[in-house]
Amino acid sequence: MKTLLLFIASLTIGTASLFADEEKAGPQGGRLLDSSAGFLAEFVVTPEHFAKVNLYGEQMKPIAPTEQSVMLTAELPGGVQILEFKNIENGFISTTPLPDGEPYRVVLRLRNHPDSRPHNFRIDLNLTTCGECQLQEYACICEGH
Ligand SMILES: [Zn+2]
Repeated sequence: MKTLLLFIASLTIGTASLFADEEKAGPQGGRLLDSSAGFLAEFVVTPEHFAKVNLYGEQMKPIAPTEQSVMLTAELPGGVQILEFKNIENGFISTTPLPDGEPYRVVLRLRNHPDSRPHNFRIDLNLTTCGECQLQEYACICEGH
């Protein structure tokens, strides 16, 4: 009986740590997006409500964009609005702020190369702060959110 309980306990711990590996906060408190192309992108909303995408290479070192590109679609109740991005030192920033009226759904379209298929990331843009992890809800890393 004791052995069985220990076994269950270790299983639970195993699951928890696996989940923690998947749900990590971005270095700037944003949402990490894995494009499966040898780099990670982090979606961050700036205090001025611009959408920013940071790129990270090995060991989470910031990298400059090369052939990647980003586009964002804001799915507002009144219709969709498209945001364009410009290159910055280690990623991209939207040329216009995100529209007011959150929460709403955004689709971030990340291309690794002009000719490659885009990766679409659907994010619920909720800018309220989560009471548990203290991140904004769009970047919340709590289990079950
Ligand atoms: Zn949270």
